[in-house]
Amino acid sequence: MADIELANVSKSFGTERVIDNLSLVVNSGELIVFLGPSGSGKSTLLRMIAGLESIDSGTLTIGGKRSEHLAPGQRGVAMVFQNYALYPHMTVRENMAFGLHNIRMASDEIERRVHEAARILEMGELLGRRPAQLSGGQRQRVAIGRAIVKEPKAFLFDEPLSNLDAALRVRTRVELAELHQRMKATMIYVTHDQTEAMTLADRIVVLHDRKIEQIGTPMEVYLRPASRFVAGFVGSPG
Ligand code: ADP
Ligand code: MG
Repeated sequence: MADIELANVSKSFGTERVIDNLSLVVNSGELIVFLGPSGSGKSTLLRMIAGLESIDSGTLTIGGKRSEHLAPGQRGVAMVFQNYALYPHMTVRENMAFGLHNIRMASDEIERRVHEAARILEMGELLGRRPAQLSGGQRQRVAIGRAIVKEPKAFLFDEPLSNLDAALRVRTRVELAELHQRMKATMIYVTHDQTEAMTLADRIVVLHDRKIEQIGTPMEVYLRPASRFVAGFVGSPG
């Protein structure tokens, strides 16, 4: 079953149309990358899927259900933001547990999930620290941990590595690829960085000027770009 399906979706802010009649099927377990320049609507698309932004027309279906019948908390998706959005006054453990307390999950189940996420991300010894006592890379892992504890069907990453230095960006990218292998969850990963897209994606969706310019595997997009724009953006040969 298709996990997430958009059909003829459009979205405007005021008079500015930012998504124009877009259709896309994201398969269960797939790692799909939305690649495009700044302003091409990547974050807006993710926010619509997460339920943080409404759609003007068209349909969005998640797990076979129409989005208008699904509140954000019912979608089985968890978003990881570019700026981490951690609570500074809470410990790592509390940051990860916060959303689960909010939905009144039993404490022993919360504790189990937090420990499982800490094990996956190898940060068990950091659970008692506050964000100010962590490096940039560690903060990003807490943000990922906060998504893992929700045990979502799909992870939505909005440029998760853009605030990390070059070496850490490569390391975290490799870890995310391993995480995808292990969790077998659907991942939608937004970036303007073609190297990230090439190394991570099962399929790349190239966004430009409100529309999908091309959908394909990294090799297809690189070797057979559908337009001059795609060729230029991914640095195709020739
Ligand atoms: P990207 O993530 O690819 O950089 P965005 O989805 O953030 O692109 O933005 C796409 C376009 O929509 C931009 O022109 C941006 O200024 C506009 N936009 C995004 N969010 C809002 C908003 N809440 N109100 C008005 N305009 C917005
Ligand atoms: Mg964005």
